[in-house]
Amino acid sequence: MRPVDRFDVIIVGAGISGMYMLYRMRQLGLSTRVIEMASDVGGTWYWNRYPGARCDTDTMEYSYSFNEELQQEWEWPERYPTQPEILGYLNHVADRFELRPDISFNTRVEAAAFDEIDNQWRLSTDDGAELSARFLIMATGCISEPNIPAIAGMETFSGSMYHTARWPREGLELSGKRVAVIGTGSSAVQTIPVIARQAAHLTVFQRSAQWSVPAHNRPVDPEMVAEIKADYAGFRARNRLQPAGQLSHIPSNDVAAMSVGEEERARILEERWQLGGFPFFGAFNDVLTDAESNRAVADFVRVKIRNIVKDPRVADMLTPDYTINCKRPVLDSGYFETFNRSNVQLVDINATPIEAITPSGLRSSEADYELDVIVFATGFDAMTGALLKIDIRGRGGLSLREKWAAGPVNYLGLQVPGFPNLFTITGPGSPSVLTNMMVAIEQHVEWLSDCIEFMFEHDHARIEASEEAQDAWVAHVNEVVNRSLRLSCNSWYLGANIPGKPRVYMPLPGFPEYVEKCDEVAAMGYAGFVLS
Ligand code: FAD
Ligand code: NAP
Repeated sequence: MRPVDRFDVIIVGAGISGMYMLYRMRQLGLSTRVIEMASDVGGTWYWNRYPGARCDTDTMEYSYSFNEELQQEWEWPERYPTQPEILGYLNHVADRFELRPDISFNTRVEAAAFDEIDNQWRLSTDDGAELSARFLIMATGCISEPNIPAIAGMETFSGSMYHTARWPREGLELSGKRVAVIGTGSSAVQTIPVIARQAAHLTVFQRSAQWSVPAHNRPVDPEMVAEIKADYAGFRARNRLQPAGQLSHIPSNDVAAMSVGEEERARILEERWQLGGFPFFGAFNDVLTDAESNRAVADFVRVKIRNIVKDPRVADMLTPDYTINCKRPVLDSGYFETFNRSNVQLVDINATPIEAITPSGLRSSEADYELDVIVFATGFDAMTGALLKIDIRGRGGLSLREKWAAGPVNYLGLQVPGFPNLFTITGPGSPSVLTNMMVAIEQHVEWLSDCIEFMFEHDHARIEASEEAQDAWVAHVNEVVNRSLRLSCNSWYLGANIPGKPRVYMPLPGFPEYVEKCDEVAAMGYAGFVLS
């Protein structure tokens, strides 16, 4: 039998969260090991290599803020960095802070069980290793477990099939190929215009039309960069006070849509449409709470789609019929324009469902499509998928899969009663994917490092959220969500994209108040947790 490797802390995942958590644990002088199933660092930016993959968050905000030299020295070329640029940045961080020696790559955590006798988490991995640690930090990512729908006949396809998050590292030659993209979420909307330019023919299979706004990518403005870098810390601090932890320089407009006249409303929307990116969704303060305001903003985008797409029948198919900003906002660079190309066809799979994948392509209820490549841009089993793939057992053998059978429950989005010393970074019940993830990740990592430091300083062996704190927190999350229009559409926030997944709104709309609450809990000696 191989000996058990024992650590103070084990972190699962070497994306942005796991890398920073390792850095902080080292600063505390704790023995730490990161387990990562990929062959290198980067997480999201390691896996998602599809053509056109890039960030939606403005470049000066999607980077670590913990090291002043790093943020001063790093140069981003464009408003939204590309996947290779972000991966290059994360590799630089790994090199600069010599993170790799403490990371085991190509290793998947399969199971984790809490040993109540010596307060240790015992982990087993796919290479047969056994490890144990006092603290277990799940940095497994919210958008990391790909969703590949089960379609009859998949195994018979003679061409090649790829999920956007499992794109071949060596790239893919698409010129001259007949390609299908299934799905029209953020990944699809980024990749469709690029694939359309490369492939001989592209067929897009759409289940839900998409409210997409122009990204308006462009080279960064050197003057703006100089201004931000003159006080980068101040810029970050101001962003952390914003509702989504970003864009303090283009803040949300704190005005209700219906409180201004029609002309003024159109002017504001047009101004933000021209600005591009997430600021569009901050045009008014009640888009997600007032149905009439929501409709006014949606109508504005409907007209835009109709003006861009030449074929009125295709424009109709591309126009969503649900609450705008209810699914995750999507940004595009020429998405709707792509459907004016002669080599692109749109298929509404609600009207003509996909029946099977065949040896030569795909069959719908109405037609056969001859294909060389099928791209699944079908998203992820978000927020809980990667966690529940691991067999996690807490006190008394309690299984996390059973505990979360009706949907995730926890305290502060950080800890689940019954699972002492185990924490999730950007877990369900925290603002997480509703914010700039860099900000959400740094806030969680810093709170957790303080908590773990406190535990060691006070010689506490165990920390566990109480059931009462969990129940109150879950009620709080539901109450905030119920005040909004967020339940009015099928989104992955709700688990609606995964057949059989409980319909529970997972993230908490509530940044930056959430941060105050976390700080308050810590200041009160970790109120709501039992320390022993
Ligand atoms: P991840 O980057 O997902 O890393 C998790 C890591 O855990 C992965 O490397 C995975 O391999 C590993 N792992 C999981 N399970 C196991 C296991 N059992 N054993 C071992 N290793 C395991 N957010 C924004 O704020 N702005 C954006 O513009 C933005 N763009 C995005 C674009 C794409 C294409 C996607 C998919 C997401 C985007 N996001 C964006 C969200 C993005 O996921 C986060 O910003 C951030 O990268 C998450 O980092 P993380 O370290 O928490 O998780
Ligand atoms: P997604 O938003 O969940 O989109 C998946 C698409 O596939 C949707 O159109 C979905 O339709 C469709 N789909 C799912 N299952 C299907 C099935 N069985 N048959 C047919 N169609 C199906 O996934 P994503 O585009 O990969 O994006 C996920 C998240 O990652 C984003 O919301 C965002 O947070 C992040 N992301 C960010 C960026 C960026 O910032 N630049 C880029 C990519 C991804 P329905 O809508 O009907 O479910």
